[in-house]
Parts: sequence; structure tokens; C-alpha cells
Amino acid sequence: MRVRVLLASSCVLASLLPACSKDEPAAAPKLPTAKHLLLITVDTLRADRLHCYGGREGASPAIDKLAAEGIRFADCHAPMGMTLACLTTLMTSKYPDETAVTNNTLKLDPGENTLAERLTAAGFRSRGFVTNGVLAHNRSGIDQGFTGGYEPNDNESYIATKVRGILENDFGKVPNQREFMWVHFMNPHQPYDPPPKYMKLFDPNYEGKIDTKPETIDGIFVNKTKLAQRDLDHILAVWDGQVRFVSDLVGSLMDTLAKAGLDKDTLVVFTADHGEDLYDHNAYFYHANSLYRSVTHVPLILRQTGAIPAGTTNDDLIELVDVMPTILARLDIAISPDENPGTLPRGTDLSPAVFGTGRVDRLPFAFSQLESEAYGVRNKNWFYVDNPNDYMPVSVPKEGKYPIARRELYDCKADPREQTNIVTQREDVAKNMLEQLNRWKAGLKKGTKLAQTMTQQDIEDLEKLGYVGGGK
Ligand SMILES: [Zn+2]
Repeated sequence: MRVRVLLASSCVLASLLPACSKDEPAAAPKLPTAKHLLLITVDTLRADRLHCYGGREGASPAIDKLAAEGIRFADCHAPMGMTLACLTTLMTSKYPDETAVTNNTLKLDPGENTLAERLTAAGFRSRGFVTNGVLAHNRSGIDQGFTGGYEPNDNESYIATKVRGILENDFGKVPNQREFMWVHFMNPHQPYDPPPKYMKLFDPNYEGKIDTKPETIDGIFVNKTKLAQRDLDHILAVWDGQVRFVSDLVGSLMDTLAKAGLDKDTLVVFTADHGEDLYDHNAYFYHANSLYRSVTHVPLILRQTGAIPAGTTNDDLIELVDVMPTILARLDIAISPDENPGTLPRGTDLSPAVFGTGRVDRLPFAFSQLESEAYGVRNKNWFYVDNPNDYMPVSVPKEGKYPIARRELYDCKADPREQTNIVTQREDVAKNMLEQLNRWKAGLKKGTKLAQTMTQQDIEDLEKLGYVGGGK
């Protein structure tokens, strides 16, 4: 924006002179676009556990390779720690208060205009293959627009095999047919139980007493157990084994895409719904209760061989709402000028960053929330939490406490793990961050909450996943 404002101002001044037209900004260069889209999302994949984001060597070779072949956004943020809310934000480019999907028991408004609906309307064949019960169709509404097929299945290896088969034999094979495929992998979501080969991959010689069974992990949170570093390291090693499992699945899809000769025509977008607290706050190993960076910081990688410059990194603070407008631009899908203003994307097209043609024109803030009770706002230097009603979220295990102060402020540079609340020491910063937060909230057009139709079994399944919503 700054560049355009300066150019416009210079033109106003120059308008007093006869040569103004020479100073008009040149039209934006035409950027390469893609024919197809492969969107891969991974549940609970906290960015900093990937090696290409600073995590363990060997945790994520295929994802590291994808990043090396495309652009890696180093500072992308999710709006909360709830699968359905975050994926609804990804698919609509609207914040949870706007979609009204602020937890996993609410349903997407059929009046929203999702990525799949937009691409289907543009002639794409849109298909989804997902592992996570909260994404089941006829309940969440997240399947809206996937008219080419939508299959939820808890078995990730099955989903990967199915998608590989499609990439090999079907995807991109019909002349003039554009394709959109969404794949969502559930690992590394709780329970922390990757296949045996991955369970011991990073810590084969552990002889301590800690295991990663759900009752153990939940017990640590409920009892606020003080873990020895060696035991914590073991849990993290198992967790990273899950990351490696998913990375290998992603790698198998990428290999198949390459063998099918689809690398150049296909935009691959890789991201996550949210991250995970891994004993960073309140002895918690989960995500639904937390607003901290451990839960909101997610990976975002875009790759299109031969089109997107390889091996680049962008450090701008961006959000999941920015993904959909970027995808639409890269697929050359225009937004109709007649579209209902209520369904327009709220995010920003990141294409200038993808191609290095300029700075991305967006607010330097990211926002997050717990239900519509507690909110977080961050920029590159500060993270502020506003919890005016002393909301305390309740999740599985229900007896666990996740206290949040009424006001929290963290210095992101000096305290990147957000451990020391310095709000009373920097009231000036807190005031400014709260103003930014309130300005953003005032601009939200809140949607109407629609409850899902759930059976008793659905509710029990959600509880097993740790998603019961609510709080006190
Ligand atoms: Zn999730």
C-alpha cells in the first residue's frame, strides 16, 4: 500500500506538469498460474517441529524438500486451536467469529462461499479425502462444494493410498478438466501413537517410565506433573515420530505427482489447521485451550515447479485467512464483482511475496480467539491476550485447569516461548495492542451459529478427540 500511495501522491504533484502520464505506475507483471490445485493440510502440525522451521533433523524430510522446491512462509498463524474452526477459516478466508464456527460442534453456514464451491463453479472437479471425525460430511458443512467426491476415513494410510491412486490414474487425465484435491491427515493429533516404526524412531533407547498413552498425557495436565527433561524429551521424540510418519505420507504423494508429470501444472499448498502445546503452558499437551504461539504458529508452503521461485522464505506475519485469496490468484480465478459482500474473502493475496514482486499489503497483526470469549493479538514484537470475563476453557480431560490471566503480554523477541507475562511493566504496549484488537473486532461481521446434528456416538467421538467446546 505504501508504494502505491507514494506513486499516487507523486502523480498528483506531477499532474501540475504535462508529463504526468509517464509517471503512472506500470501494470503489475503477469504472474504464472497453475491449472490444478493439491491442498494438503495436517492436523495439529505445529510449525517449529518441522526441520525446515527449526525442528529436529530428520523429522520432516519430504516436507523440507517441498519447502526447498517452493516458498516457505515462516510466520503463518491460525485463528485458534480447533480443527473445524481453523479449516473453515482456511476454506472461507473468514475469521471464526465471522463464519460462526468457533468450535467443533458448530456447522458451516450453507450460504458461505468456500474454496471448493468457488473452484467447482469455475469448472474444477473438487474432491476431498480427510482423516478426522470432525470433518465428516453432512455434519460440519466443511464438505460444501466437493461435488467430485468427499471421503472421510480414519485410516491415513488408506487415504494416502487412495489419493496416490487418483494422482496416478485420474487426476489431470481428462482433457481440459481442472482438478482440486484436498487431503487432510490426522497425525500428529492425540493419541500420540504413530505406527511402531515411527514410535521409536527418535528415541529408541528410552528406558524411563513415561509413556504417551492418552491417560498418561492427560494425567500430566490434570496433576500439573513436573516432568524430568529426559521424560519430556521422550514424549517429544514420539510426537516427532508422528510428524515423520505424516512427512513420509506427504512424500509419497509428491513422488506420485512427479511421476504422473503433474508438477508443473499443479499448485501444491501445504499447511496445518493449528499447532499443539507440548508442555509449553500449564503442563498441557493439546491445543483446544491455548492461544499461544505453540498452537497458532502453523507451516505454509506453496510449490509449483518451474513457476514459483524455489527455496525462498518469507518472514511476514500472515494468517490462514490469506491462503484462499492467494490460491484463487494463482489459479487465475477472479472474484465476481456481483458477489455478496458477506462472503468475500477477508484475507490478502500473498502473490507478491510468492514471486518476490513486492511487499504484501496487509495489517502487521494476527488474531486468535477462544470461543468468542478470550482473544489474542500479535505482531512481530508482542503478543497480547484479552480475557475480560476471566474465561477458562474446559477440554478433555475436563478436570484439567488451563488458567488464562485477564490480560497477558509477552515480548516475542526476548521471550519467544511466551512464558513471562509483562503486562504491568508495559502498559503502553498493552494499550496499543488492545486498541488494535478492538479495531479488528469492531470490523467483524459476526455470523449466526448453527448447531450440528449429532448422534450420541458423534458426541462421544468428539469427546475422545478432546473437543467438547465450552468453558467457564
Ligand atoms: Zn485439528
